[in-house]
Amino acid sequence: MTSTVVVLDAAHPEGVLADPAVPLVRIDDQGLTRGDGVFESLRAVDGRVQKFAVHHRRLSASARLAQLPVPSAQELRQAVELGLAHAAPGGDGGLGAEHSVKVVVSRGTPEAGPWSWVAVSPVPESTFRQRREGVSAVLLPRGHDPAQDAGYPWLLPGAKTLSYAINMAALRHARSLGADEAIFTAPGGRVLEGATSSVVCARVHEGVRTLVTPEPSHGILPGTTQATIFDAARRDGWELGHGPLQSADLLAADAVWLVSSVRLAVPVHRLDAHPLPVDPELTRLVTDWVARA
Ligand code: PLP
Repeated sequence: MTSTVVVLDAAHPEGVLADPAVPLVRIDDQGLTRGDGVFESLRAVDGRVQKFAVHHRRLSASARLAQLPVPSAQELRQAVELGLAHAAPGGDGGLGAEHSVKVVVSRGTPEAGPWSWVAVSPVPESTFRQRREGVSAVLLPRGHDPAQDAGYPWLLPGAKTLSYAINMAALRHARSLGADEAIFTAPGGRVLEGATSSVVCARVHEGVRTLVTPEPSHGILPGTTQATIFDAARRDGWELGHGPLQSADLLAADAVWLVSSVRLAVPVHRLDAHPLPVDPELTRLVTDWVARA
């Protein structure tokens, strides 16, 4: 993958392009050795980054919980724009030239302290294929109810931290079961979120169109894509629900998607052993709501 990297630097508010041939991360960086840091993944289309303000707001909330400094919106935007200006051509899945933009705030080394960078990469073909073809998913227990973490700031509830080893292990486990994706559940079977996505489902019944997602404030990541979809759906006259969702609700839905900033809305065509209905027209509608947000 060809990534363009910009380091944020107080002495250079526009950001500093990193030479890809020069090592950048120290071996004792705690983002690397402990997963101690926070991040955001944004989508850019035709050189313009989407939902910048909400991503900066969530990065700030994550950083506040983790007691990390956060770049100002202006510094971050300049770094993102510098990265996009020097990036390899974006991937083209039919919606424009797309890049993913990853923003990281790491704890850094004990001596130098926290630092931040932005990495811009073309969106890969595998993402476009998932949007077109959908994915199969398995439900995997999260082991505890993350809603119970809410009162304990040291558990970093709802923060988007670099500690994604469990999420990646869940994806590997899903793949060992022959599925593409994992969806976490709480004890009792309540649906939480995908390993790297939010879950949204649609019901269309006697002319009433409803979108439902698990309650975002209950210990799962508050998804910016889900929020954008819900804002557009509300304007379009849809009913909206914020959980609780059980697996039976997903099986009874007219469409289920995994949604996130770069993937947009990927239909789930199988859940565990059960085929799910896929509605290309609904997927197009939901995708349109977020593709140009
Ligand atoms: N939940 C998890 C665990 C995620 O990792 C992500 C995105 O990476 C999301 C939800 C969706 O967040 P967003 O729509 O803001 O990209």
